[in-house]
Amino acid sequence: MHHDPADLLRRNGVQVTAQRLAVLAAVSRRPHLTADDVATDVRAEIGVISRQAVYDALAILADRGLIRRIQPAGSPARFEDRTGDNHHHMICRQCGRMVDVDCAVGNAPCLTPSDDAGYEIDEAEVIYWGRCPECRGRAQVKKATGKETEPDPPA
Ligand SMILES: [Zn+2]
Ligand SMILES: [Zn+2]
Ligand SMILES: [Zn+2]
Repeated sequence: MHHDPADLLRRNGVQVTAQRLAVLAAVSRRPHLTADDVATDVRAEIGVISRQAVYDALAILADRGLIRRIQPAGSPARFEDRTGDNHHHMICRQCGRMVDVDCAVGNAPCLTPSDDAGYEIDEAEVIYWGRCPECRGRAQVKKATGKETEPDPPA
């Protein structure tokens, strides 16, 4: 699946700009980035871009379904280009690392509510919270040595 990104934007009615292409490329390179991560990446790539321009580009790309926005409770939104397959996410409470979890059922909504209250339901978004292997490892080291180690910044 190799799409020409400029063509992808055009076909989805998004005006092609260098900034939007750079934002899409950053999200494709590394999934689950925050808007600030994207801004840092894009600046390294094309030079100056305002925070607002990054937010605007993310908003229009998400709006057209080219990227997916994940909004975990109590933390900044993350963006990825894996769209339309209703996969879910696992987040480390300690370091914030987020990974994909394939949908157990495969199509949305994958959870049936006990009472749909008359709603027509098209999606169930599941976020699993826990501790990643690295943070679990550090906790074990701490237990064994009594030493505290600093968690890595969120990936
Ligand atoms: Zn962790
Ligand atoms: Zn994902
Ligand atoms: Zn699912």
